[in-house]
Amino acid sequence: MPPTKLIVFSAPSGAGKTTIVKHLLAKYPQLAFSVSATTRAQRPHELHGRDYYFISQAEFEQKIAAGEFLEYEQVYGGTYYGTLKAEIERLRGAGRHVVFDVDVEGGLHIKAFYQAEALAVFVKVSSLEVLAQRLNARNTESAEKKAERLAKATKEMAYATQFDTVVVNDDLPTALARAEQLYEQFTAA
Ligand code: ADP
Ligand code: 5GP
Repeated sequence: MPPTKLIVFSAPSGAGKTTIVKHLLAKYPQLAFSVSATTRAQRPHELHGRDYYFISQAEFEQKIAAGEFLEYEQVYGGTYYGTLKAEIERLRGAGRHVVFDVDVEGGLHIKAFYQAEALAVFVKVSSLEVLAQRLNARNTESAEKKAERLAKATKEMAYATQFDTVVVNDDLPTALARAEQLYEQFTAA
């Protein structure tokens, strides 16, 4: 059996990668989500083991020391996020393609490690104003955290050219159709 494929979605916060990833997961049963570990606080609708593995800083640092992460980062104000090697092995061992929702640097690390087995997709919107509006509408962060995410977004936009492909998420149905096309082409190859 050929090895399964990895498809990585990265984007500035608010660009819509979670929306796109959830759509693909609902549509394609062979696709599974790589659940990351994080030290950030759990949001009301999130579940441990489905959205993230919510762990303490001490536990996260133990896992770093034990070499359990393929990549990890301190993304916002010291909060750790990381992709566990065991998570990818578990999903691929079950014959699933794996989709990732990670930040821009994490996406490039995964691509650098897996090369042709991975497709790195950068999701963008055409303006920072739109990003700001979406973060306001989502309303999951404090004003300070939103400002931090927008500042980071400005820097992240410059990374788009290092990805295999870019999906523009201005009109959602168009972006979802493009994501489906990318998934189908990449997993058929
Ligand atoms: P990310 O995971 O990149 O931070 P989300 O998928 O959480 O982004 O999207 C941010 C917010 O924008 C959410 O409230 C989502 O419902 C909304 N959203 C996503 N795509 C679009 C779109 N094309 N048009 C309008 N709103 C969108
Ligand atoms: P949020 O707190 O909104 O869930 O995610 C914050 C950011 O961390 C998002 O850009 C998300 O993609 C990123 N992220 C989530 N998991 C990982 C991971 O395992 N590694 C890296 N590098 N970033 C991650």
